[in-house]
Amino acid sequence: MQKFDAIIIGTGQAGPPLAARLVDAGMQVAVIERQSFGGTCVNTGCIPTKALVASAYAAKVARRSRDYGVRVPGDVTLDMKAVKARKDAISGQSRDGVERWMKGLKSARVYQDHARFLSPREIAVGNEVLSAEKIFINVGGRASVPPMPGLDQVAYLTNSSMMNVDFLPEHLVIVGGSYIGLEFAQMYRRFGSAVTVIEMQPRLIAREDEDVSDAVAGILEQEGIDVRLNATCLTVAREGKGISVGVECAVGPPKVAGSHVLLAVGRRPNTDDLGLDKAGVAVDGRGYIQVDDELRTNVPGIWALGDCNGKGAFTHTSYNDYEIVAANLLDDGRRRVSDRIEAYALYIDPPLGRAGMTERQVRQRNKPALITKRPMTKVGRAVEKGETQGFMKILVDAGDKRILGASILGVGGDEVIHALLDLMYAKAPYTVMQRAMHIHPTVSELLPTMLGELEPLTMG
Ligand SMILES: Cc1cc2nc3c(=O)[nH]c(=O)nc-3n(C[C@H](O)[C@H](O)[C@H](O)COP(=O)(O)OP(=O)(O)OC[C@H]3O[C@@H](n4cnc5c(N)ncnc54)[C@H](O)[C@@H]3O)c2cc1C
Repeated sequence: MQKFDAIIIGTGQAGPPLAARLVDAGMQVAVIERQSFGGTCVNTGCIPTKALVASAYAAKVARRSRDYGVRVPGDVTLDMKAVKARKDAISGQSRDGVERWMKGLKSARVYQDHARFLSPREIAVGNEVLSAEKIFINVGGRASVPPMPGLDQVAYLTNSSMMNVDFLPEHLVIVGGSYIGLEFAQMYRRFGSAVTVIEMQPRLIAREDEDVSDAVAGILEQEGIDVRLNATCLTVAREGKGISVGVECAVGPPKVAGSHVLLAVGRRPNTDDLGLDKAGVAVDGRGYIQVDDELRTNVPGIWALGDCNGKGAFTHTSYNDYEIVAANLLDDGRRRVSDRIEAYALYIDPPLGRAGMTERQVRQRNKPALITKRPMTKVGRAVEKGETQGFMKILVDAGDKRILGASILGVGGDEVIHALLDLMYAKAPYTVMQRAMHIHPTVSELLPTMLGELEPLTMG
């Protein structure tokens, strides 16, 4: 039995920085990773997809070059092997960096195998048993594969296997019209595939406001992506050399034939093969580890961070989990999950930056609120760039004048949102930003202007 002060299972976005902090604090630490250092974000999530989004954007701009007075002779074609190689290099650099970092920590030992609880203090890894008074679970999640009839008969893709694709699918059928599915949809359309998105809900990204969903659908449809909503009774079958997805939609034919099918219908936590029952760690009905506001599980000495605790599904929420645990354990500060403000982005082009409440949530609150909205066609910087799709929307509490939420769908939306997010963290009234002088010409320069145009939000 190997004894440590702390064991970290998984090297996602929380485990590695926590390992480094614990080592700095003088602890002997075991770090266990069963697959690729850096986890989802680095290997099959944010980093590789955003590298691919960048290639897709380059293709889009090249095709539109004449709009800018630039002549690119001949057709724009893609070298998918080169696109993948670029993505692999960016992702690989990050993965190697995490691996070197962990293996270079002076009082940490790295195990490359599957970890499983034997008891609340013991972990089996390979042929060894490790024990520690503190155990941190950062095992992340994976694509969930729904029990769709026919799925056992066909080859299907997930976000992970998409990373090996170095060819152009003739017709990519994507099941799932949410964040992951839409990023792949637009990028493959821009690469040159025919793309159909199948969504069971009556609209895409259904947790967003209707105007956001509609604008996103418009952006995608304008690029030639076929969107099938209200798709129920999904089935898949082999059809010739390709596949077909059976759908019962309000409109359109009952099946969609394509060359490849990508499942993007959500994620599930990697907690089913962790032996949590041996440790007595409680999970909810979907397998997410139950934690309190400081990320402690029901078993003293065991914490759960990142996607596996169901409190967030992003790299920044996982990293924030690390900051909370480290601050509460090693620093004086008390930090809590409930202190953070919801924020994320959807990386289609133009991107959607989101912070705080949606308009729907503000209405449900049923308290006086103010709203301001501006199309990107009325933003000078967007006009100059020739990228005027989308709009900006900000919601404010009419009483204390604090920002309640914002949706910035437009060029730079993933960056612009942070000005509003930071004002929200500062708990400052909107008038602070309204009087601020922003830089011209930027998208953000319109934020003070918009805040001068707030109107009452009609309830009901
Ligand atoms: C396609 C896609 C795009 C995304 N894009 C974004 C984005 O743009 N922005 C954003 O913020 N988020 C994005 N995400 C989400 C983001 O990737 C995750 O929220 C983030 O990686 C947080 O993960 P984590 O720290 O919880 O663990 P993970 O990164 O999932 O890592 C968990 C690690 O634990 C290891 N592990 C699991 N079980 C065991 C075990 N029993 N023993 C040993 N090791 C184990 C795994 O191998 C893995 O390396 C995206 C996700 C996907 C799928």
